[in-house]
Amino acid sequence: VERTLAIIKPDALGKAEEIEDIILRSGFSILQKRRVQLTPEQASDFYAEHFGKLFFPSLVAYMSSGPVITLVIARDKAISYWRELIGPTNALKARETHPDCLRAIYGTDDQRNGLHGSDSYSSAEREIRFFFPDSIVE
Ligand code: ATP
Repeated sequence: VERTLAIIKPDALGKAEEIEDIILRSGFSILQKRRVQLTPEQASDFYAEHFGKLFFPSLVAYMSSGPVITLVIARDKAISYWRELIGPTNALKARETHPDCLRAIYGTDDQRNGLHGSDSYSSAEREIRFFFPDSIVE
């Protein structure tokens, strides 16, 4: 099995239980879960790769605007499978092209898109360590 990091972002927090049900019904196990309020500094660190982009300041403001739920989820091909389930970055476009994806259902727009998923093995490991520094790596 493979692990990935999922985040239920501030705009989708009210639907967290529903989303966790979908995660479980999609064959994932939830290994760890934390509800956190990110400081702007933590949000900047998490999204450091986007530093300098036009949307960076508002992305940081959004991600620190309220609590998020971070989950370590696991299953076969977890990274790509979770990215497929959440769908394209822009929730508005996703509603047209991938109406069943989770961002189409729970996201708001191109920034407030409800959910995050690690995009590679190395980002999954980094992001899991970011939120769960004491997690044991098998
Ligand atoms: P990845 O890049 O790993 O495929 P992603 O779909 O989450 O993942 P990124 O490009 O990494 O998208 O962007 C990170 C986050 O920044 C997005 O999830 C979204 O919240 C925000 N974002 C991305 N592009 C824009 C944009 N053009 N305008 C506003 N916010 C954006």
